[in-house]
Amino acid sequence: MPKKDYYEILGINKDASTEEIKSAYRKLALKYHPDRNPSNKEEAEKKFKEINEAYEVLSDPEKRSRYDQFGSAEGMGGFDFRDFQGRGPSDFGDFSDIFDSFFGTRTRRREERARPQKGADLRYDLEISFEDAAFGKETEIEVPHWETCPVCQGSGAKPGSTPQTCPDCHGSGEVRTTQSSIFGQFVNVQTCRRCHGEGKIITEVCSNCRGTGKVRTRKVVKVKIPAGVDSGYRLRVAGMGEPGERGGPTGDLYIVISVKPHKLFKREGINIRCNTTISFVKAALGGEITVPTLEGNVKLKIPAGTQPNTVFRLKGKGIYKIGTKQRGDQYVKINVEIPKKLSSEQKKLLLDFAKLSGEDPDTIGEKGVFDKIKDAFNQNEG
Ligand SMILES: [Zn+2]
Ligand SMILES: [Zn+2]
Repeated sequence: MPKKDYYEILGINKDASTEEIKSAYRKLALKYHPDRNPSNKEEAEKKFKEINEAYEVLSDPEKRSRYDQFGSAEGMGGFDFRDFQGRGPSDFGDFSDIFDSFFGTRTRRREERARPQKGADLRYDLEISFEDAAFGKETEIEVPHWETCPVCQGSGAKPGSTPQTCPDCHGSGEVRTTQSSIFGQFVNVQTCRRCHGEGKIITEVCSNCRGTGKVRTRKVVKVKIPAGVDSGYRLRVAGMGEPGERGGPTGDLYIVISVKPHKLFKREGINIRCNTTISFVKAALGGEITVPTLEGNVKLKIPAGTQPNTVFRLKGKGIYKIGTKQRGDQYVKINVEIPKKLSSEQKKLLLDFAKLSGEDPDTIGEKGVFDKIKDAFNQNEG
């Protein structure tokens, strides 16, 4: 076997850094990937194998130093693809795709191996009142929860029966076969089909949990809703999701808030708005009115001569900014009510008022000022 210069194969210097080695390898492996060289497949495969072999040695500090010392990789044992793959996709990023296509099902099978897995997150939609959103609230919700099956203590096996070591994999969860390929021999590792990687076989299934070892119950969770939340706000309760697999961590519970609309108030961020109606006499003369707030009624002074649609501000009567003592304001818009029906005495007083104000008595006539306006509109429309 001729001596191979791995540095030359990867086109790098003898003092190349790990990053340089990886980068050179990535470039070349992409270039010589046999799938990318259909017209020259045999040559590409040969080259690809060389590149992998070089990378296998140079990317491992221990192997690299031995190679540097002895100038040869010979006597170091065969090229172990499993070891190579064991670096995991994170090390290679998008590059792992190449190996998926190149080694086909093998890569996928490895990912199916029995590993701890985090449980799924759960979502709980919680509708709360406008006031609770404004001031926060402590409440309790009931969520589905999984507990270790009390009958089988989580083993999934019927009490009295014992799970047996899987005869196919002898408890390892993996089945190894040696295969020959264009790269020579390599070890093929598959998840054991018989036990699905668990290494154990349950001969008699627990009837309470149907062999899962877990039973679904309900659990009461205390929830502290902070003041100032709005629709769409998510609260995370760690560890209250679905249980993990094979000792993996439990998922989380996400409580998604939706706030019911209020009869009187409209929310705009931390401010709220409402409307209130006063008589035209009060608008003209001024005075005190009662205005609802989130914390009951308050008095509001209306100055004389207040115009319709005037907006007053009640400072600090809005909603808290989450996690702060800062609070928004309440805006009160004034509607001025024009009386629809007037007694003859009221009409007379209004006419007197009009005369005092210098209005032309002829244009006022017998009809109320407001009726005349209405008539004018009707004529225009007709
Ligand atoms: Zn059970
Ligand atoms: Zn097995």
